[in-house]
Amino acid sequence: MAELIPYPMSRLTSRMLRELELKDAVFDLPRRAFYAGDARKDLSVHFHGATAASALGPAAGPHTQMAQNIVLAWLGGARVFELKTVQILDRLKIPRPCIDMRNVGYNVEWSQELRTEESLEEYVKASMLIEILQASGKIPSESGFGPHVFDMSVGYDLQGVRGDKVRAFIAGMKDARAVVERLRPQIPAAYKQYRDLNFRTALSNSVTLSTFHGCPPHEIEGIASFVMEELGLDCIVKLNPTLLGPEEVRGLLWDTLGFTDIRVPDDAFAKDANWEQVSAFVTRLDAKAHSLGRGFGVKFTNTLVVENRGGFLPASEKTMYLSGAPLHVLAMSLVRRFRQHFGAHIPVSFAGGIDKRNFPDAVSLGLVPVTVCSDLLTPGGYGRLRGYAEELVKRMDAVGASDIPEFILKARGYAGENIEEAMLFNTESYVQAATVDPRYAKAKNASLPKKVGSQLVLFDCLTCDKCVPVCPNDANFTYTVPASEIPIVKLRRDAAGWHSRTEGTLSLEKKHQIANFADFCNECGNCDVFCPEDGGPYVVKPRFFGSRAAWAQTPHQDGFFLERAGDVETVHGRFSGREYAVSVSQGMADYSGAGFRVRFQEDDPLATIAGEAAGDVDLTYFHIMNLMRRAFYAAGTVNYVNTEN
Ligand code: SF4
Ligand code: SF4
Repeated sequence: MAELIPYPMSRLTSRMLRELELKDAVFDLPRRAFYAGDARKDLSVHFHGATAASALGPAAGPHTQMAQNIVLAWLGGARVFELKTVQILDRLKIPRPCIDMRNVGYNVEWSQELRTEESLEEYVKASMLIEILQASGKIPSESGFGPHVFDMSVGYDLQGVRGDKVRAFIAGMKDARAVVERLRPQIPAAYKQYRDLNFRTALSNSVTLSTFHGCPPHEIEGIASFVMEELGLDCIVKLNPTLLGPEEVRGLLWDTLGFTDIRVPDDAFAKDANWEQVSAFVTRLDAKAHSLGRGFGVKFTNTLVVENRGGFLPASEKTMYLSGAPLHVLAMSLVRRFRQHFGAHIPVSFAGGIDKRNFPDAVSLGLVPVTVCSDLLTPGGYGRLRGYAEELVKRMDAVGASDIPEFILKARGYAGENIEEAMLFNTESYVQAATVDPRYAKAKNASLPKKVGSQLVLFDCLTCDKCVPVCPNDANFTYTVPASEIPIVKLRRDAAGWHSRTEGTLSLEKKHQIANFADFCNECGNCDVFCPEDGGPYVVKPRFFGSRAAWAQTPHQDGFFLERAGDVETVHGRFSGREYAVSVSQGMADYSGAGFRVRFQEDDPLATIAGEAAGDVDLTYFHIMNLMRRAFYAAGTVNYVNTEN
C-alpha cells in the first residue's frame, strides 16, 4: 500500500511562496479559484461560540488530512475545517482503490493514514501556512472574511479516545506551542521574516465525534460525555443515516429516488442506534453540555453502509460507504426529523451531497458547518469551492439579505422575525422540495465519466488535466518538456571500441506532461475514475519521490528521484524494476545501471563515451532521465520535486 509521506514545513513554505511569486498559484490552484469574501455581505456564522467567516468547510476526509489540502480548501473560501478523523489504530491498511466517485459516490476510505503525531504536525503546519499567506499580503481578503475554525474529529470508541495517543493529539491541538516552536525555525531563510509571526497555538477546542458504524448508543454517549467533561471540549456527535429506520431509508432510496440497486444490509440498522436511543442520549448530552458550559450539537450525517456489489472498489470489502446525491436527501430528512422533535435550539452540522447549488439551501436552514467532500473529488477539485460562496451571495442578493441571519429569515418565504422559527420553516420547505428534486434521483446520477478507449503511456495523453485537481492531495501535477524524438540507441563495447545500433525512436509530441508525486499519492484511485484514458495516471505516469529514502523503500514501483548538490544534478530512475542513475555537471554526464558505468558529454554521448560495460548500454533511459532533469530544474519551474529546503 502506498504510504502518505508528509512534506517538510521548510519545503511546503518554499513551494507555496515561490509558486505564488512565479505562477500566481498555490499548490496548483490558480488565483482565479481563490475566494476572499464579498464586500457587501457578511457570510460569517458561529460555531460553538467562535466566529467563522463562512459556514463552508471540507468534511473530515481526504481533503483535511495533509497540510496542503487544508491550505487549498482555505484558499477556496472554506472557513470551518473538520480535520480528518484521528484514532488510536493509526497503522491500518486501507484497501485500494478506496474512492469511487464515478456517479453516486462510494468509498472504503474510513480511517486516517497518518500516525496521530503526524496528523498533529500536519494540522499545525496548515495553520502556520495559512497565517504565512495572510501575513504575506498576497492573498488579500475582504474585511470580515478572515476567521476560520479547526474542528477535530476523533474516533472510534471510548477506549481509543481515552488512550494516550488520542489524548496527546488533543492536548497538542489545544496547545500547539511545542509543535509551532519546532516548526518555526524550519521556515527557510529566504522567508525568515515569517519566523517571527505570532502563530496561533490554541488550534482547536472542539471535536466532531466519529463513531463506528454499529457503535452502541451507550458508547457514543460515553465518548461525548468524556470529551465534554474530562477533555473540556465542545462536542458534535455525528449520527448515521440508518437512524431514519429501514422503512424510510429504503423507501427514499428505492421508491422516491429510484436507486433500486443499492442494498443496505439489515444488520446496519440492527447494530446502529435507533431513534429512541439517540433522542434519549441527545437530550441527556444537551443537558450535560449546558451544565458544563460546553457547546453540543449533532451532525447529519455519516455515510451510509451499503453492500459492495462489485465494480470499482475491492471485492474484499463486503460493504462500502455511500455519499453524494442520495445521501443528501437522507441526511436532510434526518435534519427534519430531528428538528421536528427537538426544535432548532440544538446546533446541527451537515454533510451529505453538498454542492454549490444546495450549499445556500443548507445555510438557509441554519446548519453550521456545511461540510463537503464528494463534490470536491470531481473535476475542478478545490477550485469548485469558490462557486459555493458565489452562489450563496447570489441567493442572498435575490432576497435582499446582507448577512446569514437575514438570509435565514428571508430565504424561503418565512414571514416573521424569529430565527429558530425560520430555521424550522426552511427545514420543512427545503426537505420537501429536495426529496422530489430529480437532481438527487438515480436518473440524474447514473452516467459514468467518459472513457475514450485509449491506453495511457508514460508520456503524452489527451492532456485534459482533469487528474490534477481531482486529487485531494495535489499529488498529480504538470511539467513542460520540449516536443522530442528520443532515439532508442544501444551501445556495446568490444575490442575495437564502442558500437551503436538504433532501434527506433520514442516520440514526445506534447510539451505539457503529467507526473505523480508519489509521497502524496495513497492510490485512492480517484484520478483514474476521471481520466478519459485507461490505466490510471497514478499508475502509468512518471512517479517522482520526495526523498531518496522513499524511492529506495519502494523497489516494486518504477519512478524517479532527483537531487542536486552544488552543480551536480542527479536523477535516479527505475524502469521495469531496473535501476539507473544519471548525474550531470558542466555538460558531462555519468550514467550507470546494472553492469555498466559510463561517462560522456551530455549532448554527444556516441562520440564521447568512455567507461565500463558488461553488455548493452541502453541510452533511452539516459535520454528520458536527462529530459526530466532539464524539465524539473529549469529556471522558473516550481513543483514538489524541485523544491528544496
Ligand atoms: S494521484 Fe490519483 S490515486 Fe493518487 S492520491 Fe491523487 S487521486 Fe488518488
Ligand atoms: S493523464 Fe488522463 S486525466 Fe490526466 S491529463 Fe492525461 S488524459 Fe487527462
